[in-house]
Amino acid sequence: PAKTAELIWFNGEIMPWGDAKVHVMSHALHYGTSVFEGIRVYDTPQGPAGFRLTDHVQRLYDSAKIYRMPVPYSFDETMQACRDIVKSNRLDSAYIRPLVFFGDVGMGITPPKDAQCDLMVAAFPWGAYLGEDSMERGVDVAVTSWNRLAPNTIPTGAKAGGNYLSSLQISTEAKRNGFDEGIALDVNGLVSEGAGANLFVVKKNKLYTPPATAAILLGITRDTIMTLARDLGYEVVEEPMSREFLYLADEIFMTGTAAEIVPVRSVDRIEVGAGGRGPVTQALQASFFGLFNGETQDKWGWLEPL
Ligand code: PMP
Repeated sequence: PAKTAELIWFNGEIMPWGDAKVHVMSHALHYGTSVFEGIRVYDTPQGPAGFRLTDHVQRLYDSAKIYRMPVPYSFDETMQACRDIVKSNRLDSAYIRPLVFFGDVGMGITPPKDAQCDLMVAAFPWGAYLGEDSMERGVDVAVTSWNRLAPNTIPTGAKAGGNYLSSLQISTEAKRNGFDEGIALDVNGLVSEGAGANLFVVKKNKLYTPPATAAILLGITRDTIMTLARDLGYEVVEEPMSREFLYLADEIFMTGTAAEIVPVRSVDRIEVGAGGRGPVTQALQASFFGLFNGETQDKWGWLEPL
């Protein structure tokens, strides 16, 4: 088994990694009934800080609300669990993964009215998601043959376990075909997002990203980048975009907690702009990563000390 840290927080207790077990009849295992988050802790000059921890925990509660899943701990207790598990593992930087799920509640699709959810929170080291060199070199992506979830089917606005079957198809098809990552179109043929990241296009010094209606998860990094870009004086628009708009972009990059900010150097083997990291992407990376070494002033209170 892939053990990535010593300790894990499970239903209110901090226990050895290997002891956090669930039954094979767990509801979430059969039906995908879980909601989760991914949060990064950065090692800043002021000490380890959870990046937008409150916003992430809020999105966890929002995802649970969409599915009427009762989170078994209060907002503050969940926040504290996130802080505690990082500290218990003595990590200065980490990826935190809280998960709310239906466990051993029976096999009915609708869990019994009084069914409780479980909550686990893991924290472990996680470097650059698509590789350290990808941050400069950029990645090759393909528009996959799989569409992103249709509106009013499985809500993309919830970060739920089951959604990642779509992500699995998007990513696996791309990788099987020799690309680094896949980009999906929505059922109307408009650009949505990657398997686990949002997408931005730079064209004539202006930033474009698909709107909330485009079958995407409203990424917290997406919001961070829109805010930093505007702060740097760039215009940012949320607008539906076509596949060919990607081909004609000056720059493209993807954003996510795990992925951070990754330049895209080609789409469907068509070079994006000059075929590497562009100047706007580089400026935004500098602004973003500057938050964690003190070079960018955190005017927004995004860094939450543990
Ligand atoms: N879309 C999907 C499908 C994701 O899984 C993620 C990662 N959570 C994102 C977008 C980016 O969201 P965030 O910036 O909040 O991590």
